Amino acid sequence: MFLEVSQLEVRYAGQTQAAVQGVSLGLSAGQIGVLIGPSGCGKTTLLRAVAGLEPVAAGTIRLSKQIVGSPQRSMPPEERRIGMVFQDYALFPHLSVGRNVAFGIHDLPRAEQAARVAEVLQLVGLEGSEHRYPHELSGGQQQRVALARALAPRPQLMLLDEPFSNLDVDLRERLAHEVRGILKQAGATALFVTHDQLEAFAIGDVIGVMHQGHLHQWDDAYTLYHRPATRFVADFIGHGVFAPATLVQQGQSVVVRTPLGDLGNLTECPLPTSYPAGECDVLLRADDIVHDDAAPVQAQIVRKSFRGSEFLYTLRLENGQALLAHVPSHHDHAIGEWIGIRALVDHVVTFDRSV
Ligand code: ADP
Repeated sequence: MFLEVSQLEVRYAGQTQAAVQGVSLGLSAGQIGVLIGPSGCGKTTLLRAVAGLEPVAAGTIRLSKQIVGSPQRSMPPEERRIGMVFQDYALFPHLSVGRNVAFGIHDLPRAEQAARVAEVLQLVGLEGSEHRYPHELSGGQQQRVALARALAPRPQLMLLDEPFSNLDVDLRERLAHEVRGILKQAGATALFVTHDQLEAFAIGDVIGVMHQGHLHQWDDAYTLYHRPATRFVADFIGHGVFAPATLVQQGQSVVVRTPLGDLGNLTECPLPTSYPAGECDVLLRADDIVHDDAAPVQAQIVRKSFRGSEFLYTLRLENGQALLAHVPSHHDHAIGEWIGIRALVDHVVTFDRSV
């Protein structure tokens, strides 16, 4: 692993709760990791500890196998060769783009500085902009200059903290894809913080979901969505609900009894013995619920939100169980209407029954 964080704990003076607790994660060279989670869950604190801006209370941070942070030993931030792009990491307004980008490479000979500036500006799609000034650029262009400035000294690790949060939504998504391309082309290893799932999915090779200082899961987007390790991850990623279910052995296979009827023909399912009397909660995703007029189960539409190609319907079964369903937007039913639904699930995700 190129970056290896092991059992990391970070505490702020005067706080009873650690801001980051028992966090372990790794990035191999050239990989992009993204941390997501609600505000205050410890993402920025973790990033700042990796940068050397917060002391390590317990655990270790290694870069290229070398310990850069531990309770006993802390390498100063400027020696870690880390490039940073922060939301408020403003450019120097009185310096040209070229001088902004050259900021971290002043010890290089002039000709080499100029060549490196030209190279990174080209990488971020702003070739020839050396003599322009930050105020002449759009928000997206300024953020790309900040990225070029961070990349110029060839850092061994890039840290990006909500770099797009001051930009409007359309631009954010485009820039997220662009930045991924730029980081990949530069061969950079990067750790990125966002609270936006779509941004995380657009950028990350690996995504970490944090909650109250803990890292719940560190996996690719597909696994987070389809095999959430905890209830929190299941709830935080995508749209879905938990419904009470009972796992029942029927011959060679397991059937899942749910308020929506029995789920069978499953490719993956835990054994009934995993839970007391087989009783658990099952995760039902909005895309596991299919609208079907012929289905025997009826649900009432409680709420709906239009999402372009589909609606996200909030539904309620007769017994009160809430469900979410993605339904193609040409099926435009009214709130209060009852519609037929069935579950289309091939692997089930279950959790201990909540109390
Ligand atoms: P996130 O980036 O996920 O929003 P932070 O890392 O900023 O979360 O914060 C994690 C926790 O640490 C929060 O409870 C926050 O209030 C606390 N915290 C952050 N910075 C400081 C600080 N400088 N002093 C004391 N507590 C802090």
